Amino acid sequence: MKILVLNCGSSSVKYKLIESENGNVLAEGGVEKIGLPDSFLKFKRPDGSKETITVSMPDHKEAVKNVLKILTDPKEGVIKSFDEIHAVGHRVVHGMEKFNKSVLITPEVIGKVKECYPVAPLHNPANITGIEAITDLIPGVPQVAVFDTAFHQTMPAKAFMYALPYEDYEKYGVRRYGFHGTSHRYVSRRACEFLGVPYEQQRIITCHIGNGGSITAIKDGISVDTSMGLTPTEGLMMGTRVGDVDPGALTYLMKCEGLDADGLGNVINKKSGVLGISGISSDMRDIEDAIAAGNERAKLAMDMYEYRILKYIGAYTAVLGGADIIVFTAGVGENSPELREAVCEKLAYMGITLDKEANRSRGKEVVISGADSKVKVVVIPTDEELVIAQDTAMIVGGK
Ligand code: AMP
Repeated sequence: MKILVLNCGSSSVKYKLIESENGNVLAEGGVEKIGLPDSFLKFKRPDGSKETITVSMPDHKEAVKNVLKILTDPKEGVIKSFDEIHAVGHRVVHGMEKFNKSVLITPEVIGKVKECYPVAPLHNPANITGIEAITDLIPGVPQVAVFDTAFHQTMPAKAFMYALPYEDYEKYGVRRYGFHGTSHRYVSRRACEFLGVPYEQQRIITCHIGNGGSITAIKDGISVDTSMGLTPTEGLMMGTRVGDVDPGALTYLMKCEGLDADGLGNVINKKSGVLGISGISSDMRDIEDAIAAGNERAKLAMDMYEYRILKYIGAYTAVLGGADIIVFTAGVGENSPELREAVCEKLAYMGITLDKEANRSRGKEVVISGADSKVKVVVIPTDEELVIAQDTAMIVGGK
């Protein structure tokens, strides 16, 4: 089945056309700067060459229209008509407690995704615009929603509750939900296939370390705790997000700077993390270069970044009563041997040893722990789009 996977952000749309039976990517690309005069569509050709076309796309419907146009373009396209798209799978960021698995999109599902707007005011509305654009442009094509939060719905209350007044949970749904669920689900299962061990009998810690980052504790195939919370701002130090911070520091800062909720939101989401500490960049490649050039704030940012990862691995080892497998994934996790080495060498107390040669590789599946290591440490490139395509194919009734 040919499945169109759409990931609609507030000003962007990423797409992949995937053959669900074998995971082949037939086409991929994205639209950026939706709503701005210089919005553009970029796509990758089968031979790997890339093309960028500047087109004015005032809204998501126009963006999706251009994606469909390029997919069916006589020269650049890979399908002749929309009829060849069997179904569309959407990444939907927040499902609160309403969704614990992927679902076929119906008017009722759309209503529930809209009910989650207050906790995901940037992401869920963008996801809905993508769904509505497809409904308008390819009427009748089945659509499936795959939620970032769904995998973590198995967490016990002691892990997902915040020690705020209980009424705030009841009235507003304030609790930990966790994100990157599709990635944590994929890499944990894939790691077990790769290692040839049964998924349902492992204690796994998955480290999704990208521009956003989260760590999840998985016991016997289910998520039991995760570092992100009500929003993707909690937990690890990230590219521009603060991660864990004393809530009292935030109310103090609001008073000092005269910030309202949106002003504070801007600080903790856009101006903090690696960018905020280094003052240079949110990109770890820039930080590594700055450290090599002797920049001390870049070094502090890296030290804090690694330290926070180390603390979560320690905490989740305690939660799981030990660990069998640690997985590194996403932009930094897949591509930074330095980060992996810095973290793993401090885990020697768990009986972890590192195969330094194996750890040199970037962006491919590899065991990086030594043969004598008590815990297997692996790198598994994440593939959220493949999971979305597979869930979609399964739900619409094929393979
Ligand atoms: P993601 O959000 O998973 O796409 O990850 C993006 C981030 O991965 C970038 O912001 C970089 O910080 C990081 N990254 C990508 N390639 C490398 C690399 N070779 N070394 C270190 N960090 C990298």
